Amino acid sequence: MYIKCWGTRGSLPVATTNARFLTLLEETINQARAGGISTTSELLAAAKDGKLFQPLCYGGNTSCTEVGHKGHSVFVDMGSGFREAGTAAIQSGAKEFHIFMTHMHWDHIMGMPFFVPIHVPGHKLNIYHVHRNAPEYIRINFNGVNFPLTWEQLGGKVEFHQLKPYQETIFGDLKVTPFVLDHPGGSFGYRCEAAGKSAAVGVDGEFKRLTPQELGRDHAFYQNLDLLLFDSQYEMSELASRFDWGHCSPNIGVDLALREGIKTLLFTHHDPWATEEKLRRMYANAVKYMHAQLDAHRTKWDAVQPGGPVLKMAYDGMKIEL
Ligand SMILES: [Zn+2]
Ligand SMILES: [Zn+2]
Repeated sequence: MYIKCWGTRGSLPVATTNARFLTLLEETINQARAGGISTTSELLAAAKDGKLFQPLCYGGNTSCTEVGHKGHSVFVDMGSGFREAGTAAIQSGAKEFHIFMTHMHWDHIMGMPFFVPIHVPGHKLNIYHVHRNAPEYIRINFNGVNFPLTWEQLGGKVEFHQLKPYQETIFGDLKVTPFVLDHPGGSFGYRCEAAGKSAAVGVDGEFKRLTPQELGRDHAFYQNLDLLLFDSQYEMSELASRFDWGHCSPNIGVDLALREGIKTLLFTHHDPWATEEKLRRMYANAVKYMHAQLDAHRTKWDAVQPGGPVLKMAYDGMKIEL
């Protein structure tokens, strides 16, 4: 099973301005110098091998994740990262696509008009949704005003599939199941399972319900995951002032991962205001927090993965094989 992150920002895409690029360039050169690197080829090799900051730049596309296994793949959400997924899809020759919607907030649907296959006859998008009004709120963007083309003018086909919470959809060996997240207007995560591996997309979610009792039926969707994409938009110090905004913080994901035996925790839905420097700080703090908490869960983790959960910061273009 693989997970590909096409878009890892939350709320709004962010561009890398020239000034921002120069800051990142300066930071990279300084880091390379400190490591004794003096040539371009050494610099590129160090960057690719993760010897410099990994990544050097997180990217700025909004939510879109691909999960695939043995010739079958699904997308979760159609944020601005869906545009690049469409370019790759045209190159691969794929004709039919399956997209599972967490919810209809614009950072999760804005890429759809720019997903090239939707304009090319012979292509079909299957959109799976739990929200009853999803087709209406997706079609509304193709009214000839918000986007120049109307729904009827699209070259490809789009079919909607209404799901109930916890209803499985199966593609070959790949099973996709929605579960409930805490978010204004409601949001649904998806647990994907294939060949004994499991990965779940847990955005957008505030994780107000945390105990097994509070989670109820959703509790099982976190248990023993190989990977969880976790909504970690804010630092812990920011959470109180953003109550009910629908997003969470890395340390809460760490607590969940330690308790539920989640092997890799992938932080995503980065705040559009977060610089690379802030994201690196959030990551370092989460690693420190995890190590401080690990002893309390030592018995379980010694049998699973002695170092505890692996923590990673998602970035646009990241691909993980399970
Ligand atoms: Zn979002
Ligand atoms: Zn949202």
